[in-house]
Amino acid sequence: MFDELINELEQKSKEAIKTNEGDYIENNLLHCGKCHTPKQCEVIICGKLRRPYCLCKCESERVKAEEQEKKRREREARIAKRIEIAFDDSTMREMTFAKDDKLNPKLSNAFEKYVEDFAAMRDRGQGLLLFGEVGCGKTYYAAAIANALLDRGYSVRFTNFARIANELGATFDKQEIFDELNSYSLLVLDDLAAERKTEYMAEVVYNVIDARYRAGLPVIITTNLTREELLYPATITERRIYDRILEKCVAVEVKNENRRQKDLGKSQKEMRKFLGL
Ligand SMILES: [Zn+2]
Repeated sequence: MFDELINELEQKSKEAIKTNEGDYIENNLLHCGKCHTPKQCEVIICGKLRRPYCLCKCESERVKAEEQEKKRREREARIAKRIEIAFDDSTMREMTFAKDDKLNPKLSNAFEKYVEDFAAMRDRGQGLLLFGEVGCGKTYYAAAIANALLDRGYSVRFTNFARIANELGATFDKQEIFDELNSYSLLVLDDLAAERKTEYMAEVVYNVIDARYRAGLPVIITTNLTREELLYPATITERRIYDRILEKCVAVEVKNENRRQKDLGKSQKEMRKFLGL
C-alpha cells in the first residue's frame, strides 16, 4: 500500500518534469542535455533506494524567472488599477514632473524630494499645504506628486471636498467613505475653501482631515487661501480646520517668483530645511 503510494508519487514527479532531446543517463540518473545537472535524485525510503525526478539547474532557473515575470505583471496590473481610480479627471495623469515648466525650480525640487522620501513621510503622516493665488500651479504640483507616487506603486486618491460631500450624501454608510479615504497612502484634497460655506461642509472638511490625522496618514491640500486667511480665520470652525492641517502639513506658498518664504505654523522648520525651502 505504502509502496504503491511512493510509486505513484515517483510517477507524478516524472510527469511533472520536462524531458528534452539530448537528456542522458549518467550514474543511473537522468541528466539534462543542456545544463548537465541531474533531473533525478536518490533517496532511501523505508530502506529502498528511490529515484524521484526533480528540476535540473536550467529548468529551475526557468521556473524562477517565470514566477518573477508573473509577480512583475501582477504588480503592473495593481499599479494600473490604482492609476485608474486615483483621479476624478483622467487628464490629470498628464501633470508630471517631467512635463513641469520648471518656472520655480526650488519648488519642483522640494516636491520631488517629498516623493523621493515618501516612505518616511507616510510613516510620519507628513503632508503638504500648497497655498497661493489662482494659476500658480498648486494643483499641477499636487498632481505631479500624486503621479510620481502612483508610478512608484503607492495608492493615491486625488479629489476635492465637494466630491467627497456628494459621496457622503449618496450613502447611508458614511464610515465606508472615510475608510476608503483612509485606505490610500496619500490623499490629495484639491482646492480647500472652494466648497460651499455651510456648517455641513465645514464638518465634512474637518472630519476628512481629522480621520487621516488620527490614522497617521498624510494629506496634500491645495488652497487659494492667503497666508493672512490661514493665520487669522474668520470663524472658530475654520480655525479648528486650519490648526489641524498645519499640525501635519508643511505650508508652502506657491507663486511664480522665487521669493524667500516666511514660516507659517509651528514645528515646520525642520521639514522646510529638509525640503530646501
Ligand atoms: Zn537543464
